[in-house]
Amino acid sequence: MKITLKPLGNIADEIMEKLKDRIGDIFHCPTEITAGFSDLAQAYTPERKQYFSSKLLASLKKSGRDEKVVGIADVDLYVPRLNFVFGEADIGSGAAIVSLCRLRQEYYGLAPDEALFLERITKEIVHELGHTFGLGHCPNNKCVMHFSNSLADTDLKEAHFCNKCRPKIIL
Ligand SMILES: [Zn+2]
Ligand SMILES: [Zn+2]
Repeated sequence: MKITLKPLGNIADEIMEKLKDRIGDIFHCPTEITAGFSDLAQAYTPERKQYFSSKLLASLKKSGRDEKVVGIADVDLYVPRLNFVFGEADIGSGAAIVSLCRLRQEYYGLAPDEALFLERITKEIVHELGHTFGLGHCPNNKCVMHFSNSLADTDLKEAHFCNKCRPKIIL
């Protein structure tokens, strides 16, 4: 199994590299960065001033069966009937997408915190990847598979799988 991270639009190389290292460490499998696509306009919904997550997710291409792909976008994502989503996973295709937009302290009028930002992105990526491995939401609020209703939930949980979830990840 291999995990591929794809920047969708403009994402700093430095962030991509740090995420690659963290995700590789958590899943213990080869992790690489490959070119994504930069035309996000196809998924833009002017009435909401947001991007339709599922549409971007459907555009993510995989190179093989033994690959999980995560698109990383710095735009606000939504799905119908929800105000926004931190990310979305397509279990059938093994692809996922996460948004950086609401993970920054600045989004809430707070001072930047790079370490916290990276920690949050890592958790969101690991969570969506967990879904691509067939995991559902976990009742343990420290487990990365716990559902995040808000960033407070994200900050409370860890970037790792709990003892019940971990064995279900088959690489
Ligand atoms: Zn989830
Ligand atoms: Zn768990």
